[in-house]
Formats: sequence, C-alpha cells, structure tokens
Amino acid sequence: MDAIFKNLTEAQREAVAHVDGPMLILAGPGSGKTRVVTHRIANMIQQGVQPWQIAALTFTNKAADEMRLRVNALAPNQPVWMGTFHRFCAQQLRRYATMVGLQENYSIYDTSDSKQAMKRAVLAAGVSTTHASPDQIASAISDAKNRLMTPEMMLGQTLRPLDTLAAKVYPIYQQQLLTANAVDFDDLLLHVANLLRENPELRSEMDRKFKYILVDEYQDTNLAQYAIVRALSIDQPNLAVTGDPDQSIYGWRGADLNNILDFEKDYPSVKTVRLEKNYRSTPNILRAADQLIRHNRRRKAKDLFTDHPEGDAVILRMFEDGYQEADGIADEIIRAITDEGMKPSDFAIFCRMNALTRSLEHALRSRSLPYQIINGVEFYQRREIKDLLAYLHLINNPSHDVALMRVINTPTRGIGNRTVERIRDFADYNAIPMLEAARRANEIEGLAKRAITMIGKFIKIYDRLAIKANSSLEDMIRYLVTETEYEAYLEKTAVEQQDANPMSNVDELITAAVEFDRQHPDDGSLEAFLEQVALVSDTDSIDGETDRVTIMTLHASKGLEYPRVFIIAVEDDLLPHKRSKETDAQFEEERRLLFVGITRAKEWLQMSCCKRRAIRGDTRPVIPSPFLNELPLDEMKRIESTGNRDWFDEEEDSYDQSYPDSWDLPDEGEPTSDTIAESAPIVAPAGFEIDEISQLPQEELAAAVKPKKKNNVI
Ligand code: ATP
Ligand code: MG
Repeated sequence: MDAIFKNLTEAQREAVAHVDGPMLILAGPGSGKTRVVTHRIANMIQQGVQPWQIAALTFTNKAADEMRLRVNALAPNQPVWMGTFHRFCAQQLRRYATMVGLQENYSIYDTSDSKQAMKRAVLAAGVSTTHASPDQIASAISDAKNRLMTPEMMLGQTLRPLDTLAAKVYPIYQQQLLTANAVDFDDLLLHVANLLRENPELRSEMDRKFKYILVDEYQDTNLAQYAIVRALSIDQPNLAVTGDPDQSIYGWRGADLNNILDFEKDYPSVKTVRLEKNYRSTPNILRAADQLIRHNRRRKAKDLFTDHPEGDAVILRMFEDGYQEADGIADEIIRAITDEGMKPSDFAIFCRMNALTRSLEHALRSRSLPYQIINGVEFYQRREIKDLLAYLHLINNPSHDVALMRVINTPTRGIGNRTVERIRDFADYNAIPMLEAARRANEIEGLAKRAITMIGKFIKIYDRLAIKANSSLEDMIRYLVTETEYEAYLEKTAVEQQDANPMSNVDELITAAVEFDRQHPDDGSLEAFLEQVALVSDTDSIDGETDRVTIMTLHASKGLEYPRVFIIAVEDDLLPHKRSKETDAQFEEERRLLFVGITRAKEWLQMSCCKRRAIRGDTRPVIPSPFLNELPLDEMKRIESTGNRDWFDEEEDSYDQSYPDSWDLPDEGEPTSDTIAESAPIVAPAGFEIDEISQLPQEELAAAVKPKKKNNVI
C-alpha cells in the first residue's frame, strides 16, 4: 500500500480518499483529524488535482508549517497554498487593495498600533471615556467586524450603551485607517469577505482559482471566516472542514460554533466522517477529559476511546503557593529525566495566562533545566524593535500615522507632544497623512519656529532613508541605525528602561532580516517582510529541534501534543477566568479550554492548584477551580504538598501587561488583588479535607526559610 494510505484506519482512509464535494470530519481530540488533512492533500495531488488549486487554511503559522512538513513528506515540493486565514486574506487584499480604497502597499496594524489608532479615533469622535475605555470600545468594534457589520449597520442596530458609543467611533476609526493606508487584523478578514460579497465576478474567479479548500480546527471560525470559505465554495463546493465542537475556545474572538454545527445544513450533499478512536492519550487521561466535558450542556455527546494501555493515573496536586508549585514541577521533571530517561522536550506546562509563568521560569532556571516560553509576538513588541520597525513601516507606507507618531521624536530630537498633537490635528482637519502634514509644518498654526526647524530635520532624515527603500533589508536596517544615531540613543535610555542589552535585540532583528533576504532573493521586499512580522503569532516561536521544556498558554496548546503535561493554577478566577464567568456560554468555553489542555497529554498528566497565590506581590487565599470537582477524582492520584520554602523576591509588579498578545485573551490582565474577593468563602478544594487555608502575612513567609518539603499521598 502506498505511503498515503498506510497507517490509517478505515474511517480515516475513507476521508483521505474523498476528493470532490463537501466533507465534514467531526471527531474528538487525537483522532487523526490533522493527519487526515495532510494525507488527503497528498492524495488529491496524486489523483491529478493541480496543487495550486488547493488552499489549506489554519489558525496559526505553526499549524501551517507542520502541515507543510507533513505534506512534503508524502508529496514533495508541491505549490499548495497553506497558511493562516489572516495571511490568506492579506495576500488577496494586496491584489485587490484599490477595490476597498487601499493601496497595494497597505500596512497591517498590530494590536498595539490599533490601540493607538483607536485612542485617536475616540478623541476625534468626541466620545467620553468616562463610561467606556478605548479598549472596551475597540473590543465592541472588533466584535462588530467579526460579525461583518459595517459602521452603518452598527449605527442602525445599537443595543448596549457601549455599542452606541462604539458605533460613533467605528466610522471615524475606519476612515483614519483608510487615510493611513492601513488595516487592523479584523479588517483583513472583513475587507476580503466584503470584496467577495460585493463583486460576483471576482468571487467566481476566486472560487475557480481555489477549487479545493480545507480548513482544520473549523470549530474556531468566526462569521467573517465562515463567509470567506463559503463564498469560495459555491460553484466548486469542494470544501472540507475538520473540527471538534468540544475544542472551540475562541468564542471571545467571535468564533461561532454554529458554523460547524450547521455545516450539514449549508451543504446537504456533504459527506460526514466521524473518527472514533483516539491515538494520542491513555485511557486514564481520556476518562478525565471525558468526565469533565460531559458537564457542558451545549454539546453533542461523543465517546473517547483508545486501545492504549491504562497508563499512569492522572495526578491532582495541591501546593501551598505558586512558588512551591513551580518547585514541585521542576523537581518532578528532574526526577523523570533522572529515573525514567525522559527528555526536557517531553514536557509541556500550560497555564491560563502568560503572567503566571514567572515563578516557573525561576524554578526551571535555578535547576538549569532548558525551557522556552511560547510568546512569539513578544520580541516584536520590544521598544527598540518597534522603533526600528516603525521607521521601516513609514518608508514602506508614508501614510502610516502610528509609525510616524512613534518615530518623529525617536531618537529624541526636540519635537514635543504638543507639536505632535498640532500636526495630528492639522492632518485630521485636512484628511491627510501626518507625514504630509509635517511637510507642511509652516502652515500649521501655533508651531514655534524651533519646532518647525526640528520637524524639517526629521523630514530630511526620513527622505534620506526613503531613498534606500529598494536596498536589501539588512542594508536598510543598518543604514537606519547609523543615520538616526540609534545606538547612542539606546545607550542613553537603556538605564531608565532597565534594559540590559537592547542592542542585542537590534542584532537579532538584523539576523531576521538577513534570513528574510536569503529566503527571498528576488522579491525580498520590505512590504513582504513587514507583512510576515505583522502576522507573527504566539506559537510561531515553538522550537521543536532543541531539547527544552515548553511553557505556553492553554490557548496556544491547541492541536499540539506532548508525552507529559502539567496544567498549573487550575483555580477559580483563573480557570475559569474571572472575566469569563458571566454567562453559561463563557463558562462552558472555559471548561473546553481545560479539556483542550488535558487532551494534549499522551501518557502522563498533572493538574495543580495552590492554597495561596501571590498576585502583584499580594498573597491571597485561592479557591480551587470548580472544574476539579468534575474530574473522576476516585481514580486519580491526589497529592498534597506541604512545607515551607525560601521566599524569594519576585518582581511580580514589573510584568509588563502593555504588550498586546493577539492570540491570547483580548483583555488579558494579571488578576489584580480584587480578583479574589476578601469575603470569598474558603472552601475545601476538590478531593482535599483541610481545616483552614492559612493566610500568612508576607513577612512571616519570608522568615520561613527552611526548604523542608513533605509529600503526602492521600
Ligand atoms: P486535535 O483535535 O487535538 O487537533 P487530531 O484529531 O488532529 O487532534 P492528530 O494530531 O491528527 O489528531 O493525531 C493525533 C496523534 O495520533 C498524532 O500523533 C498522530 O500521528 C497519531 N495518529 C493518528 N492516526 C493514527 C493512525 N491511524 N495510526 C497511528 N497513529 C495515528
Ligand atoms: Mg488537529
């Protein structure tokens, strides 16, 4: 049997063999859905389908890369389009930019750029922020965009007071984006969905072009994504989607479970395949997952089973505090490496929020255990990287106002905030980009002579840089650093920013540019580089090559698998998150998130919670997650670790929450001390009987220096 059909079950084979017509693969975690997608692509090519007529859409670049790798092993070097929805839309939009009022060289605003733009739009709209913050307004507008609502539609049907405010800002925000020749992430989908809706000829041309479309993790599509794949599968309804409604975890980004539940209604001739068997996990792990998810009322029940041997019991472990939890995990990893010959890369640690990883890092580092924290966007949010990228953005797209505001006085050149505001107001008034307004500085009322001179200096630097627009990326960045005397500026400001070695990050950016130049010898355009950077997502930095423990959020773990998994801080207000407990739908999504985490584990799983957790330096009693009581506690191994440990000085407060994290909770914030109500009842955690949860003041804990540990197996 050829490689494509080898190692597949009968049901998987049936799905892989299907070529024409719509198909729905509905199956639980670890049942081979992603495997079917890759084998199916290879089979289609073998059956004579032209590879460029196939588009496989994913939610992360990492998933797309994995897919490319696996398809390549079965059908080498085929030009199949594989990538994220956002990348797909970004590319289509480049071709049809002018049809939506943009130019080809449009920029993609990342989350922090969009935030800046939103603040400006809120100001221009004259909307008071007393009752709604720009962030809340941004999220209401984002919701509207994900539901394909135009500003006019939103004005027409406002419901909540927040929406009324948002509806006022929305048209102004959109206009400002157009003036800046820019889009935000939601716009990428929205513009393409609108293009397809409003231009029947273009739609059928693209429908023909992308004759075969495959979507993995279809349960996470929102209305805009749904509209796009639907529009591309009308004349050629060869749309195959795979998904698991129990793993839908992006409701907060507008994902709509109905897209998968109604698929059979949308395509009455659909071939539905169900994959029954799990190939990933042990029965112990699957029973824990199954018992938990049964508590969701809005779901179609399905059984999870496997032929694997029972394996180890799932562990539920209670620690005194977050530091002890981190130590306990690090010790367990060391033990398994020493006693059982495991490797660091066999382990993954999942948490609800990135902010919870600090003590873990400390514990792993102090034991010299190599680890990686998956936070791909973080690098590009560093001050020095954002500065340099902003210059590049402005060279690529002179209308990029957010970039202009960032660089006009960076490095410092005596252009104050007041001057920038005047330029901005002049630009707003004349509906022109700020760079153009700056060029007309002598027309701007109220600008001091000195300010006009300084602006002139900036324009000169800019024009010199812009001439370099066609050089290699490496040359451009090096020239930029020299021309703006950026290194000297960094040295001067590094101390205030408490940044140890920011120039090394600049070097890393140059390395990335060199690599990009190398990979794109012909079309190594600035625009393509900036697009790639803008579409970096959280999981992109996963390095599967080196042997390291992986730490990531539960959201980022989707689709992945590891032999041994720890899920930390399974505590009330964290999981479920305090902001996701208002409605049953949100609560059920939190449960699905834990379900996703549990089902990543192949052979061994530990969930843990603490009695106390230090949040922003403030130690509070913690209530275990209500989800723990829903697990098969009788067959699980429950461990309570007690004892004191060294109290080390953690700088919880220094955690920078300001960087956006596009693949994480939109308003993710480290829970503040008010997260856990003072009056919250102290209840015994699931499976534990405890008399009291002590509330030692910090000084007392600090005094308790004996690292004596005792583990009681209950
Ligand atoms: P998730 O819902 O978590 O994304 P999935 O349904 O996409 O899971 P895969 O990742 O495709 O599942 O497969 C899970 C694991 O099982 C992988 O390691 C895969 O290689 C393995 N696997 C799948 N099918 C088979 C099979 N027929 N024989 C052996 N191994 C298989
Ligand atoms: Mg999968």
